[in-house]
Amino acid sequence: MSLDDLYRELILDHYRNPRNFGRLPEANTSVHLKNPTCGDEIDLQLLVADGRIVRAAFSGQGCSISQASASMMTEAITGKSVEEARAILEDFERMMHGEAVLRDMGDLASLEGVARFPVRIKCALLAWEGLDKSLKQIVNPAGK
Ligand code: ZN
Repeated sequence: MSLDDLYRELILDHYRNPRNFGRLPEANTSVHLKNPTCGDEIDLQLLVADGRIVRAAFSGQGCSISQASASMMTEAITGKSVEEARAILEDFERMMHGEAVLRDMGDLASLEGVARFPVRIKCALLAWEGLDKSLKQIVNPAGK
């Protein structure tokens, strides 16, 4: 099995069996994202306490890239501090721009190839755009 095959399997696995799928009644951030060019939609909720992401959950619909990216992201940021989550977000954006990252991206590494397909980059970044908005809600709850 080639690395490409392995990555494809990983993406499909997250798409078919999304992790942290559902809603978080106790969440203190909630955002809704749309990618009209592909029809992807994601709702992302975080429970943050003492500057740490205790739980992350998402629901949505769309292409495998958008949903797998959201699933992998919730796994990557759970238990992380807000600063660490932002650092992971920045590394993922770098990866989508075809730049090398030093961090072990875990399952997220499977999305590296998306950088070669500009139309799909938006799909992969949708959940992360949601993370960016969510982290801003924490810093500035009034949303100003
Ligand atoms: Zn998409």
